[in-house]
Formats: sequence, structure tokens, C-alpha cells
Amino acid sequence: MLNTFFKIKTIVFISIIGLFSSTLYAQETTTDDPFVLVIDPGHGGADAGTLGTRRTKIYEKHVVLDVALKLEKLIKDNMKDVKILMTRRTDVYPTLQSRARLANKNHAHLFLSIHCNAAANPQATGAETLVMATERASANLEISKRENAYIVLEENHQENYKNFNINDPLANIGKSLEQFSTIRSSIVFADLTQKYMCSTGGRKDRHIVQAIIYVTYACTCPSVLVELGFLTNPAEEAFLHSEKGQNAMALALFQALKDYKARTYDISHPTAEVESSPAPMAEPTPAAPVDKIEYCVQLTSSSKALGTRTNVLLRRFSDVTYFKEGNMYKYTTRRVSSYAQALKDLSDARKKGAKDAFIIAFKNKEKVNVNTARSMTGE
Ligand SMILES: [Zn+2]
Repeated sequence: MLNTFFKIKTIVFISIIGLFSSTLYAQETTTDDPFVLVIDPGHGGADAGTLGTRRTKIYEKHVVLDVALKLEKLIKDNMKDVKILMTRRTDVYPTLQSRARLANKNHAHLFLSIHCNAAANPQATGAETLVMATERASANLEISKRENAYIVLEENHQENYKNFNINDPLANIGKSLEQFSTIRSSIVFADLTQKYMCSTGGRKDRHIVQAIIYVTYACTCPSVLVELGFLTNPAEEAFLHSEKGQNAMALALFQALKDYKARTYDISHPTAEVESSPAPMAEPTPAAPVDKIEYCVQLTSSSKALGTRTNVLLRRFSDVTYFKEGNMYKYTTRRVSSYAQALKDLSDARKKGAKDAFIIAFKNKEKVNVNTARSMTGE
């Protein structure tokens, strides 16, 4: 279903809507100020998700629930200071809105939605992690429109989803400050889920994908959606149907959570139960490219030169530089080598009032498409 040309893709992902009422579950924990994790097994009930190869009657909704329950057990047995909220524990369909609300109402630290992928090409394989898109440039409109069609099947969708623009999904990017303030943490966690789904889970790395997913749009906490693998690939489907495969993927997500919690919550909760020797903090490590890739945030452009110390917008930035493209002067922030850092700079720029700012990329000083740059740096 996804364009495999870009390692980083933007799609809109709205689940098929069912009409079952939601049942949401909380689990008791032993500490006063627990790390609150929402585990969201995708789909459920009338919404089967992808049917995979259709060789069996085991669909996406079954696989993701099995893995979610295995993950829940691992956490319950090993991390007493984590409060787990499951969006479902049986074959029912909670609305997308209720899934996100569960996280917001309980001030969750992290929202993890678990899914499996599908593609027309049975060879497609591997795991990927979706985070909320922060830029319009790489959005895939065709997929956006097709996936948006599902939301209108939900009862009262006009009222319930009035803040989510169904007709123009791109318009949802950047609509709330949370999207920018939590994206960095979402990417840190996404980097860990990718790391462990590939090492522990043995999946091919399909990287982090920017997407417009309702649940990650509506959650105010860091939130990601993992695609464990392709149920349309016979070998990967067999793996994800197997006890061994599901245990491996649950363990991978557990390891990602353990590392993420060590880097975030445990630091500010020294009395909480800390796992022994947490993995060292590390930024996402892109493969070293032969070409020099740089990113920066374009703040504004003008047909005539602007004073960086006098212009009402530019003077708010200490590191403004410019380059000329055709007849236009383009003003940007500092150049950085990682896309994650560029996202942070974009967030800062928007907070400082550069509402139309966006990320641009350079390869060996020459401007290139951001997606091209990101595929070269493995981000
Ligand atoms: Zn799904």
C-alpha cells in the first residue's frame, strides 16, 4: 500500500470504523506516580484490519491483540512502576476518538498503537514505525484521500471528528502545538521500536515514517504506531501468526519501552524502580553518507534582501543565514546534519512566530528534496 521508493513516507492512516461500543481497561500499579502507557491493539470487532494472505482466518486484529497482551504481561512481570491502559483486551472496536481520549484523560506518558502492514506486492516485508507528520511537503495525497474515506463510516463522525479535517488531511499537520512539542520524543521512541523490531524481532528495517494518523494526531503525549510486518507476505505472516514470532515482537516492544522509560521517566523519578543497566542514551544514528547532507529551516523568502537584525521575524533568530535561488532570497536557520534536529529547530521556529516555516535539505551544498536527503541519511 505504501510507496516504497522513499524510506520515509507520509500517509494518512485511519482505521476502518466499527459500531461496537468501546471497553477500556486500566491496571493497578504499586507506585504513586507511575509511567502511564497506553497500548492500543489496532482495529477489532467489525474492523479486521488487513486480512493478510487469507490462507487462514487470522487477521490483523487478532495478531495485534495477541502481541499487545504478550507485551502487557512482560511489562506487568518486569516493570512495576508502569501503569498500563489497554484500549481493548478482547475482539471489540473502540472508536479512534476513545482510544486517544484514554491517553489524554489519564495523562499518558506514551501511546503505542500496534498494527500489521499490507501491500499488493507479496514480497513487501519488514517493520516500520509511524509518527505524526510535521510537514506537508512529503504528504501522499492519494493515500490520504483513500484512507480518509473510512472515517465517515463511524456513527456521529461529523460531531466526534469535527476538529480533524477529513477532506484535507494535510490541514491537520501543525494544527496543535503538541504535535511539535511531542514529535521529538515520538521519534526517540520510534527509533527504539525500529531498532528492536529489527534486532530482536529479526524484521527488515523500513524505517520511521511520517504519517497523518488520527490517534497520533489526537494524543497530546508522544505517540507512535508500529507496523510489525506484512501479513500479505506469506513468510512474514507465518512468523507473525506463530507463538515464537509474536513473543519476539512483544519482547522487541518491551525492550524499546524499557530504553525509552530509562531515558525519560526514570531520570526524573530516581526512586522509581529502575531496571539494571539501562541502555546508554543515543541519538538516532544514521548510516554515514558519502555525500554531505544538511538540513535547515526556511523561515521566509523575499524578492529583495531583508535585514536579519531589523526584519520583525528574522530578528527573533540568532542564527539566520540566507541563500539565493533564482531571484529570491531565502532565509534559514543554521544547518544541521540530522533530520531529528531539524524538526526540533522547526518546532522552535514555529514557536517564535515563523508559521510558514518548513524544512529544506542540501546535498553537498546543493538543495535537494527533503525525502531524498532523508533516505540518504537513513532517517
Ligand atoms: Zn492496522
